[in-house]
Amino acid sequence: MKWDHRALWVMERLEQAGYQAVLVGGCVRDKLLGKEPHDYDIATSALPQQTIRACTPAQCILTGERHGTITVVVEGLPVEVTTFRREGTYLNHRSPEQVFFTKELEEDLTRRDFTVNAMAWEKGNILDIFGGQRDLEAGVIRCVGQPQKRLEEDALRILRGLRLAAQLDYQVEEETGQVIGEQAHLLSVLPWERITPEFLRLICGPGAGRIWREFPQVFQVLFSELTLDEKQILGMERVPPQVELRLAALLYPAQLQVELPHSSTPVWDPGWYDEDYVHQSQPILDRMKLSQGQKRKVMHLLGWHRLPPPLTMEEQGLWMQRLGTDLFFDLCLVRQGTDWQKAYQTGKTLSHPCLTIKELAVNGHDAIQAGLHGPEVGAVLQTLLDQVSMGRLENKRDILFQILQDKQGRP
Ligand code: ATP
Ligand code: MG
Repeated sequence: MKWDHRALWVMERLEQAGYQAVLVGGCVRDKLLGKEPHDYDIATSALPQQTIRACTPAQCILTGERHGTITVVVEGLPVEVTTFRREGTYLNHRSPEQVFFTKELEEDLTRRDFTVNAMAWEKGNILDIFGGQRDLEAGVIRCVGQPQKRLEEDALRILRGLRLAAQLDYQVEEETGQVIGEQAHLLSVLPWERITPEFLRLICGPGAGRIWREFPQVFQVLFSELTLDEKQILGMERVPPQVELRLAALLYPAQLQVELPHSSTPVWDPGWYDEDYVHQSQPILDRMKLSQGQKRKVMHLLGWHRLPPPLTMEEQGLWMQRLGTDLFFDLCLVRQGTDWQKAYQTGKTLSHPCLTIKELAVNGHDAIQAGLHGPEVGAVLQTLLDQVSMGRLENKRDILFQILQDKQGRP
């Protein structure tokens, strides 16, 4: 097993100073699966201050001294170094009242959540006391110790277990699964700051739909105001694994409104945007504490749920121009169905030379020169853009300028 030299450097420094140091947790799991870990955790017998002394001059950040964690930054890579510990009694199903440092690696492995996350790597050997490798091979998520006790201690483990099962497309071991179902209600005591990161990774996993169907109680606790049925779960599974797309697919209205009939002349109707539906979904997005960017994107996707699919090239151009290409393509993915799939393909393959006012061959100065003023300017440019994006007018300066002059003095 070849490890990042910067993580090895930290281990060597600790060992040279006389402490035990092992790579542990998710990074060992990922390495065994042949994947590149996205973060490195080291467990050590050194106390936090001893870790700092051993690793200086590398930058050492006190990430959580009380919990024994120091982040050592080596050539830009943050390596989390945590003193071997065991945990005291848990408070309110979320965090231990106290942690105790220990000299025993085994105790540290015992406090970890799942067998596949409780292996350590030390000098070429895997230390695996709970059958993590066996479960990794069988594709099983199993609690370390008694599921009842472990999931009650820290309810986030319920979601972490399902996240891992969805992400790795694994089965949840029977007893672990049974307790997850029975104790799902405990999730309601957790702050959303802890829930959301796990939840978003869960819904982006290849096993997300299956896990949702197997553990509906868990999702009912998180989103008690929703009645999520097969339609939304299928919708979620079918969109690419991006947070906003998957979330929007889950929050789509159960009963899609009958699409409004649209005529042969493309007309853009801003009334298609369903403000009420966005308002109705807002509390969910707010409590999830999404980033502003994520929230805005999901809201737009939900708001346009009534938009009819573009059926002609003219409509395609107009829709893309009015929504912007990013939102247009995301909507195609979330809405699904053959018309939207076709619109996606067409939009991706055709080149649309002019979809924004900036790209028009005439600008505001031209409009003023042609004798237009005030708010007219913007309105007329938008009309031109509509025509150009539908392909009804060529984006040529002389043609458009002529029209600007003709418009002058007319409403
Ligand atoms: P990834 O890094 O891929 O998200 P991970 O399993 O490494 O997955 P981290 O949050 O980085 O997740 O946690 C590192 C390790 O710490 C885990 O592998 C596990 O051993 C332990 N751990 C994390 N959270 C808990 C928890 N709530 N209860 C018990 N052990 C935990
Ligand atoms: Mg990790």
